[in-house]
This record gives sequence, C-alpha cells and structure tokens, in this order.
Amino acid sequence: MGGEESTTRERILNLLYETQEPLSAEEIISLLGLQDLTVKDIYEHLEHVARTVKTRSKGREYLGMEPPYCRKCGYVFKDLDKPKKPSRCPRCKSEWINPPRFMILRKD
Ligand SMILES: [Zn+2]
Repeated sequence: MGGEESTTRERILNLLYETQEPLSAEEIISLLGLQDLTVKDIYEHLEHVARTVKTRSKGREYLGMEPPYCRKCGYVFKDLDKPKKPSRCPRCKSEWINPPRFMILRKD
C-alpha cells in the first residue's frame, strides 16, 4: 500500500464524517473526483475506514451502512457483513438494486 492510497482513504474518511446524509460509493467517487476508482475499490477502502473509525474513536464511532434494497419489490439486504452491492434480488430476481449508503455515526 502506497502513500497515495492512504491519502484517498483519509479523504473518504473525512467526507463520511462531514456528510449530513449517507453516501453511496458512486457519490463518494463523484464528490471526491475519484473517477479512476471503481465502486469495488471504494468498498475495499470502506472496510479499512470502518476499522480506522472504530480504533481512533475507541469504539464510540462506527461506519454506519444503510443496507441496499430492491427498488422493485422493496426487499432489504439486511445481513451484509461487508460493504457491497448485491447484483440481484433473491425475492423477485430484479437487478434494480439501490446501492448501500454510508456515513460515520456515533454510539450514544
Ligand atoms: Zn425484489
């Protein structure tokens, strides 16, 4: 991992602290001008961001994920342990899936 990569990660981290609304990977790419990265790259960064947030805040903050859902039938992908966008709805087989969205949240 080079320095450039960790800088990108810091920028994603800061964006997710500042945002008032959860952001999708596509929105993160667009807001930070990271067009050379794919959505999959962003999900990988987010896995590290989640660990960093937890460590730095000593467990008081965490990367919250609004789960992806099917735009056709409303099925919610609740049990994801990792950030990703499922390709197809298990209930209606639609591929019209709303991507997961992220922001850093604080535990009360
Ligand atoms: Zn569906």
